[in-house]
Amino acid sequence: MEPLVIVSKGKDPYKTTRIALKQFPFPNLKGRRILIKPNAARLASPGNGITTHPQVVAATIDLLREKGVKDIVVGEGCLVGVDARAAFEKTGLKEISEVKGVELIDLDRFDSMEKAIPDGKLLKKVKVSSALKEFDWVVSIPVMKTHMHTQVTLSIKNMKGLLWRREKARLHQLRSDKSMNRGHKALDLAISEMATILMPDLTIIDGTVGMEGMGPAYGRPKEMGIILVSRHALSADAVAARLMGFHPESIPHLKLCSELGMGEIQLQKISIKPKNYLKWENPFDPPPSRFSIPYPDVMVYDEGACSACLSTLIVFLKKYHSKLTPYYLDDKKIHIGIGKHLDRCPQGALLIGNCTSKKKKRGIFIQGCPPVASHIASTLLGKTRKA
Ligand code: SF4
Repeated sequence: MEPLVIVSKGKDPYKTTRIALKQFPFPNLKGRRILIKPNAARLASPGNGITTHPQVVAATIDLLREKGVKDIVVGEGCLVGVDARAAFEKTGLKEISEVKGVELIDLDRFDSMEKAIPDGKLLKKVKVSSALKEFDWVVSIPVMKTHMHTQVTLSIKNMKGLLWRREKARLHQLRSDKSMNRGHKALDLAISEMATILMPDLTIIDGTVGMEGMGPAYGRPKEMGIILVSRHALSADAVAARLMGFHPESIPHLKLCSELGMGEIQLQKISIKPKNYLKWENPFDPPPSRFSIPYPDVMVYDEGACSACLSTLIVFLKKYHSKLTPYYLDDKKIHIGIGKHLDRCPQGALLIGNCTSKKKKRGIFIQGCPPVASHIASTLLGKTRKA
């Protein structure tokens, strides 16, 4: 049978989610223990296209209860360096969990457990939160966003938040050879292999306000008013990508997942309701193919940095760029190196993030994984560069 994806559109996130969920043919869910996994990994307010709108989560909780589910927990594992309690408060999840009487858990507070990836070439196993043992169904509720490294981030990529603590960053540090990756980036391959053991049972994509351009955190909010629901995560991601103006086959991790037999991304083989859903297509600006910094006196050497390092660097420069003149090199430019494969940066550069530690003799090293803008500032301010 063809995978089914329901799309709804409306102004109100709660009502639009309800409309989509009401049309969906749920299996019997009585007795299920369900984990709802939104995207709440950052400190961001609702409606900015960065984190899942809490009303989408609220509508999901209400619907699951109507289906007889008693055991519902909302959980997230935030980015390394983000305080989960602060993130839950800011994203509105804390309030919703209290109003709805549902437990809200920081997945990284639990121990880790290893999960083998039997067919993994790049990833043989991953560490996940041991909290997952308590659930037999996972609902992934991502935001519809572009992503600097994976083009889009949707329900499959959202499952990366189930990885335990720094395991999330490890996926960004892997290297693969050509025989293994057939030209794809190691990160895309790693996400597709992770998905072989961490597919959601239900996907609800929050496209009420998405993000275009430099996602997942520094792009522009994009109002869409869209919700997608499916039990086939890969097909839901493919339809969402299409509504964002991208061909699903052009998104490497979706293509790799389909090649691994995890689902259908050819739109003509997916049952999409309503049939004329493309009337709601609203193309997103793609992520920049090259990372550009709007400061002519800053040279960035990005060799394999993950989005967390890039995001930090953008925030840091926005706030502290004017204070960095003491770090000019002879060419009156500040040279900054980031990323795990860093090699090219000149002597005297600022080397940001733990990945650059192997080059630390070359300049001023600031640790952190991911690094934090205020920590970079406090390390640099008051420190004078050796002549
Ligand atoms: S130091 Fe930066 S690039 Fe390296 S793994 Fe950490 S966040 Fe990613």
